[in-house]
Amino acid sequence: MLFLAHVARRYAPSTDLGVDLGTGNTLVHVRGKGVVVNEPSVVAVNRNDRSVAAVGLEAKRMLGRTTGDVSAVHPLRGGVIADVDLAEAMLRRFLRQAVPWARRYPRPRVVVAVPSGITELERRAVRSSADAAGAREVYMVAEPLAAALGTGVEVNAPRGAMIVDVGGGTTDIAVISLGGIVADGSIRIGGQAMDRAIVVHTRRQHNLLIGEPTAECMKIELACAIPEDRPRTMEVRGRDLVSGIPRGTIVRSDEIARAIHEPIEAIVAAIVRTLEATPPELASDIVDEGITLTGGGAMIRGLDLLIHERTGVPVRVAEDPLTAVVRGTAAILDEFDRHEDLLRV
Ligand code: ADP
Ligand code: MG
Repeated sequence: MLFLAHVARRYAPSTDLGVDLGTGNTLVHVRGKGVVVNEPSVVAVNRNDRSVAAVGLEAKRMLGRTTGDVSAVHPLRGGVIADVDLAEAMLRRFLRQAVPWARRYPRPRVVVAVPSGITELERRAVRSSADAAGAREVYMVAEPLAAALGTGVEVNAPRGAMIVDVGGGTTDIAVISLGGIVADGSIRIGGQAMDRAIVVHTRRQHNLLIGEPTAECMKIELACAIPEDRPRTMEVRGRDLVSGIPRGTIVRSDEIARAIHEPIEAIVAAIVRTLEATPPELASDIVDEGITLTGGGAMIRGLDLLIHERTGVPVRVAEDPLTAVVRGTAAILDEFDRHEDLLRV
């Protein structure tokens, strides 16, 4: 029997899972299959009994569109896990979705990338949701380390490397050397703060009420961190503040640039502060090696140039910045023994 179990485990499909539990998006990578879940970190909840009505994309479509009984929330809003119960429910659903057979052999080994400032309570929530989804062993890795691995930065080298991950709720800034984080300058400002700033701008300048999902589309389409030669435009629809009737308006990229100026400056200032707090030897490594940008916010036009202008350090945007972290968790699972030191149980 033991032998059969051994054979079954050996030849059954590998189910090791890498998870990026982000404030904006959650991604699950199945070893040998690639990224099988890539959905917004949103949960739709019934107000009456707090039961979960939907998660992910389906729940996001309900954001700002829900009836009285259902509300759609970001359980990781504000950076860390704002609502532990909902985050747990969401993660459990995504893991089940990734490996419906997880209750059978072989149970998966799960590596979850978590914010570096995660509390013990939040850690417990991550562990119990992975357990509930059938995980055999649950490990956690600090997000910046995963992002570095995912973009090919040699994390174990005795050289300083800076990773700036501009996510939904947070921007995680870390200097990595010898497999550890030697300087950390994370702030609770990211893409969602920009969305909120765009909502406020559109209300004030266009007398138009829009929701955050619309603001996010405007950001993705128009946002830039430095002035562009030729501003771009798009049509946006919302509700007129005065008449209460839906109408459209044309919005320009230079307005959006002004609207998101504050969060962008906060991100740049945090990078400068972190560089200043970095030990001199490592700081000089960073001057040579440059800063790597990951996360969805890395795709804001000109953000790399702006950071370069302010710091004098070369800046590169990671290839496919939205999947850098989950690719890092996959890299850990691929060479588990080599990277075991990066993990915390
Ligand atoms: P998290 O790790 O917090 O889940 P992500 O790295 O998934 O965050 O990034 C999500 C954020 O990136 C969201 O705020 C989203 O609006 C933003 N984003 C995604 N694509 C783009 C883009 N092309 N330009 C600017 N921002 C983007
Ligand atoms: Mg992230």
